[in-house]
Amino acid sequence: MKPVNEIPTPADLSAFWMPFTANQQFKAAPRILTSAAGMHYRSEDGRTILDGTAGLWCCNAGHGRREIAEAVAAQISHLDFAPTFQMGHPLPFELADRLVETAPPGFKHVFYTNSGSESVDTALKIALAWQRARGEGTRTRLIGRERGYHGVGFGGISVGGIPGNRKWFGSLLPGVDHLPHTLDIPRNAFTRGLPEACPALADELEKLVFLHDASNIAAVIVEPIAGSTGVILPPKGYLKRLREICTQHGILLIFDEVITGFGRLGAPFAAQEFEVLPDMITCAKGLTNGAIPMGAVLVQGPLYDDMMAAGKGGIELFHGYTYSGHPVAAAAGLATLEIYRQEQLLTRARDMAGYWEAAAHSLKGCKHVKDVRNYGLVAGVELEPMAGAPGRRAYEVFVRCFERGALIRVTGDIIALSPPLIIEREQIDQLFNLLQEALQAQR
Ligand code: PMP
Repeated sequence: MKPVNEIPTPADLSAFWMPFTANQQFKAAPRILTSAAGMHYRSEDGRTILDGTAGLWCCNAGHGRREIAEAVAAQISHLDFAPTFQMGHPLPFELADRLVETAPPGFKHVFYTNSGSESVDTALKIALAWQRARGEGTRTRLIGRERGYHGVGFGGISVGGIPGNRKWFGSLLPGVDHLPHTLDIPRNAFTRGLPEACPALADELEKLVFLHDASNIAAVIVEPIAGSTGVILPPKGYLKRLREICTQHGILLIFDEVITGFGRLGAPFAAQEFEVLPDMITCAKGLTNGAIPMGAVLVQGPLYDDMMAAGKGGIELFHGYTYSGHPVAAAAGLATLEIYRQEQLLTRARDMAGYWEAAAHSLKGCKHVKDVRNYGLVAGVELEPMAGAPGRRAYEVFVRCFERGALIRVTGDIIALSPPLIIEREQIDQLFNLLQEALQAQR
């Protein structure tokens, strides 16, 4: 077999059915990335592309990190795979200790998965199992949020609030409700950081509790900041109020931190940044800097203790994946956390946030820009949709940015930006200058 850097892209791109992609459109004009280092990708046609999205919100320490590559290579030749069902090997235990140190207070246990979607479905299952284990087996209802994205498992699309991700797939999980989303552009357009408080939004949870009775509700799941659906921020006090209502009614609160975890907002997790403690945190992506698939559910001590007590020495959770705690992924995770620690990347977004915010809001006044939202090292830029062609405008900006040398991400008519946390000021300038040019070139 040829070395990886000599394998050309096949002329016929039909065999790979691509995820979340208009396959035929893509194949007509493919954008192929062939290598990456630091803040940049290299495209097949030899251009350098500034990474404004950390891949897919995952390469927080930048690309091509030698420490991760070496840890992975060493682990594969040392122990490529070993089961974690009734067996163990050292690395996932070690990584769990490091994760518990990084996590907010009280998080003492880690269940491993391979992706954000699996983390979400795992957390939902733990919630149901815990309610049952403590004798509250009637609590089976789950509450998500409109415009929430929780991956693509059946649990995730059921609690998720994206119509396009749900409508093809039947009746989904029964007994799921959705809180309203928190995006209110007429009121909050161009707010810097969190929008002003809007107590009525969190109080919608009270209404659901009243309607169904707390004795039927297991858990609420929200992204502290919704990323994939266009950077939707929680109003001030919103998450705290959800916490209060959940605590009052014995409902578990799950933060889906697949995007916000590992430093995106300026603290290791959003729970620390917003000072709200959920019962479980789902994560993935930045856990291994995107280099090897791995996810995790972080679990509060008492929740785990209750499950152990209920297990009475038998199996406490009938759930797990062949690759839960995979040695190679765990090696990547340990190397990644070490980079974050040494380079203080988990709090770097806090230092860069002011500069980032000013740069993002410089787009106010650009053609068709109707809102800019930001927090930490994340920003959303919402465009007026083109008449009769929703999503077209942002897609054209995406293509234009790529041609000019910047990778951005679009969802509908919203541009989402989430660069590697190593980004420097000049690169922030470059990213927003390129974006500004692309926006001004719109029809
Ligand atoms: N939850 C959230 C909040 C996400 O942003 C994502 C992915 N963008 C997922 C879950 C799903 O993660 P994955 O694609 O790794 O399954």
